[in-house]
Amino acid sequence: MKETKKIIPDVMIPYKGSKIEKGRDGAEYILRNDAMYTGYEHSQAEHSEFFLSLKNNCVILGRICPSCEKIDVPPAKLRCPPCSPPVDPTKHLQQIGFREMVVVALSDRGFLEATPPVVCFAPANFKSEVPYANGYVRLYTKEGTATNGAMKIRIRTTTGLMRPGIAKWKDEVKIVFRDEREGSICDIFAVPASELAEEQLQKSPLFESDIEWDRDMDLNIRVDDSFTQSGDFLRKEWMIFASRIERSKRAQKDLANWSSRILVATLGGDFGLLIVDGALVVDGCDLFDPDIILRVDDPKTLLRYVHDGYALTNLFLEGSLHLNVLNETIFKMDRLPRSLKRDGV
Ligand SMILES: [Zn+2]
Repeated sequence: MKETKKIIPDVMIPYKGSKIEKGRDGAEYILRNDAMYTGYEHSQAEHSEFFLSLKNNCVILGRICPSCEKIDVPPAKLRCPPCSPPVDPTKHLQQIGFREMVVVALSDRGFLEATPPVVCFAPANFKSEVPYANGYVRLYTKEGTATNGAMKIRIRTTTGLMRPGIAKWKDEVKIVFRDEREGSICDIFAVPASELAEEQLQKSPLFESDIEWDRDMDLNIRVDDSFTQSGDFLRKEWMIFASRIERSKRAQKDLANWSSRILVATLGGDFGLLIVDGALVVDGCDLFDPDIILRVDDPKTLLRYVHDGYALTNLFLEGSLHLNVLNETIFKMDRLPRSLKRDGV
């Protein structure tokens, strides 16, 4: 059965119940969880043509003004305000301005109008999508000239999770269509053209399933003898780090009610980390079914976290740490060095 996504994710739905809190006057009051249902359906009206074309034909439409040849994409305007239709000699009154624009199919190639910012700490409804980048893409016409408007769409990378530096201002991009489309701007996203093979660039439409994703998380090419010693050293450093958590109430609180199975993959060998019952446990290399993978080439990179308290999120953002997912486990681990410092251990 096809998985259907809900507009309001389960995590946003409060549990039944209530709590008691003291008011400003010192008296006790009951705060009860309740709900207000506000789902609604709305028409895409004159924009339906654009979205239907994405969904059914995998073609991006714009509108061009026959006079000034400016192209609007996504086609928000039906008429071009400064341009007038050709003079009609049979009519006494002539229309000034607002010439009707004509629908035109655009190319699926373009470039970034600006360097897209990468979001790691998102509002609640986008939390499951971090890290993500929305960029302004200026598409080309079929003839190869740049259009005037820029489309705000997601920018993705084939190398793994999105991080700064992967997609920059002026970079050429290719539009990719999702295999399952619903008729919204989320049906498409852009990938840096430099990450695609020539035949992928030539294919139109290019689908999400035509691309091999997560190249940086390939765990097959690994363990280099020259790194073995630093791999062992790193494991010992993590054991010391774990023992410091045993002595820090704040650090234990950071990990309370949380469990995670982390595979640390380095060129010096793999090992596992378990978060369980407010503790961090360093495990062997046969960790089964991890829910998160940390991959670094040089094992010493992670010393910046266990020694110097440098955030894992920052290591990820600067590109020295690869992750298969950026989630709450990483954010919790980023709190540990500060908690250890505050508890003086
Ligand atoms: Zn015009």
